[in-house]
Amino acid sequence: MTNEELWQTVLAQIQLNISPANFSTWFKNTNIILQKENEVVVSVPNSFAKEWLEQKYNKIIYKILNSLDIKIKSIQYTINKSELKVFKKDHLPALETDQLEFQELKINQETNLNPRYTFENFIVGPFNELAHAAGWASSKNPGQVYNPLFVYGGVGLGKTHLLQAIGNEILKNAPEKKVKYIPSEKFTSGVVSSIKNQDMENFKNKLRIIDVLIIDDVQFLAGKEKTQEEFFHTFNSLYEKNKQIILSSDRPPKAIPALAERLRSRFEGGMIADISYPDLETRVAILKMKCLEKKINLPEEILHYISSNIQKNIRELEGALNRLIAYQKLQNQTPDAEIVKSLLKNLIISPPKITTPKQIIQTVANFYDLKEKDMLSASRKKEIVKPRQVAMFLLREELKSSFPFIGRKFGGKDHTTAIYAYEKISKNLEKDNNLSDEINLIKQRIVSV
Ligand code: ADP
Ligand code: MG
Repeated sequence: MTNEELWQTVLAQIQLNISPANFSTWFKNTNIILQKENEVVVSVPNSFAKEWLEQKYNKIIYKILNSLDIKIKSIQYTINKSELKVFKKDHLPALETDQLEFQELKINQETNLNPRYTFENFIVGPFNELAHAAGWASSKNPGQVYNPLFVYGGVGLGKTHLLQAIGNEILKNAPEKKVKYIPSEKFTSGVVSSIKNQDMENFKNKLRIIDVLIIDDVQFLAGKEKTQEEFFHTFNSLYEKNKQIILSSDRPPKAIPALAERLRSRFEGGMIADISYPDLETRVAILKMKCLEKKINLPEEILHYISSNIQKNIRELEGALNRLIAYQKLQNQTPDAEIVKSLLKNLIISPPKITTPKQIIQTVANFYDLKEKDMLSASRKKEIVKPRQVAMFLLREELKSSFPFIGRKFGGKDHTTAIYAYEKISKNLEKDNNLSDEINLIKQRIVSV
């Protein structure tokens, strides 16, 4: 593996483990400049970065490098003097977190768009169908169909990819159009520095000539009043001229805190499309697409293994894939199941299951084909009393709820009722196999909710 490939793989892993702000502060303009025997030499832009990498990140860097190549035993950090100048002169786009995966292709300085994000390599499944359709339609008739187009969804689910694909597609069809992709943070810093430098007019004028304005992650505008105000005016001026506005956020407009009402209602005035979680098939399809792009072949089982274990974040899905690709390149062999497992073990940490009293009550009610409200009622009918007691028992067993709490949950019953229910079921369990089977089935259902 070349220095570049090796370091990109390390960065991709690190990015998953630290905040975007830390990542861009400490890892921007770092490189591997030398691999010799057991040692790797990393160049960093300045002494701060050197100190931080040595003291705070050396362990994780070492761990990753060593897992990629067991021969690597030590890392040296060295300051690259020439880097410093480049760093100052060169205004890197604020796309820090996405930047490194696509370093090989230049981000367009004019539009801020990354040519790697296209519709061609955007996989469509039930989870993003609506957002994709709306985005595609907007790219065909900018400003005409959905304005604004507001796309929301969790982290790493393809919002940025889709937004940029729309921009790239519009440019493909109409290269003369002025398309601008701006992450919200960059918009905010633009406003702040224009105020400081007293050239707000200039800032505004530059925005007003845009044909397609794409603002990513607008949840970051929360609480930034001055920025919101400027954005509101820009929005209106473009909107009135039928210019396309495309926005993304990690949540719907109504759930963005500290967002001025007038801006919220603007955001809600067009098309709102969400992106949810991809199903297994789509996750496999996405991995296949990534393999194709990276010109790499991995067996179907491996893609399945990754997809089954990483469900809620496509960026992490890709991170896992990169790790295996790195292994394959380095070792010149396909990792077997055991190796895959060990390579991915720190990416695949299943989140702790949090069960709520409501979930338990609902699951028990469903199991016995009752309504939740019957369970909470005062009815003494036999067919209700037993399920209610089972639910109380499970609340105690599974959640360690206190008896007074359980009583209250069941329509304000006394704690003695809860104690009685718990003891009765515990006792019956000892002699009644059917009951114990039932409770086991219910427990399984609770876990898989
Ligand atoms: P978000 O902006 O929602 O946090 P990104 O757009 O940055 O997520 O996506 C994270 C990674 O997943 C990117 O590398 C992107 O190319 C990839 N990705 C997301 N959705 C898809 C998709 N539908 N098809 C192919 N790749 C996708
Ligand atoms: Mg994004």
